[in-house]
Amino acid sequence: ESKLQLVHRHIRAFPDFPKKGILFRDICPILKDPAALTAVIDLFEEHVKKNHKRVDLIAGLDARGFLFGPLLAQRMGVGFVLIRKKGKLPGATVSVAYDLEYGKAEAEIQADAVSPGQKVLLIDDLLATGGTLYAACELMRQQQAEVLGCMVVIELKELNGIDRVKPHSVFSLVQY
Ligand code: IMP
Repeated sequence: ESKLQLVHRHIRAFPDFPKKGILFRDICPILKDPAALTAVIDLFEEHVKKNHKRVDLIAGLDARGFLFGPLLAQRMGVGFVLIRKKGKLPGATVSVAYDLEYGKAEAEIQADAVSPGQKVLLIDDLLATGGTLYAACELMRQQQAEVLGCMVVIELKELNGIDRVKPHSVFSLVQY
């Protein structure tokens, strides 16, 4: 079995969660299986090594980006920073508002999290409409950091999130 097959086998789907008509992709089984989790980090690391000469930081998105980001950052020997939902981070922060399917949200980072010119990779569990990663890219732009690209375990292709995040690239391990 390939690493990708192992990852694939550890993703479940729940119909009508969190509301009717939504098929929720659940990555919890990956975390429960050390081999599957290692496979995810291996595949991300292989992609980064192949495509990026220099990476300064990994930035993870609230909340499931926090599960994979620090593991990858530690593997690569770089730091990890948190992009959180508004109101969770102490000290000086900057935030960007973005549209959700229903309503609005705000993504926030600490003002000293990234420095101008730093090369940052963004990571989350899943790309849906791309609103979340778009806001994260926008935060990086405002802080004058360079987004090298985005990485997710799962891409939901029919929502065209890739277009929303353009011109930045999104690398995904599994597509539905
Ligand atoms: P987007 O902003 O529409 O791309 O939604 C992506 C964000 O919503 C990510 O932070 C995901 O964790 C979360 N999300 C949306 N749909 C799912 C799903 O089916 N499973 C797990 N997370 C999801």
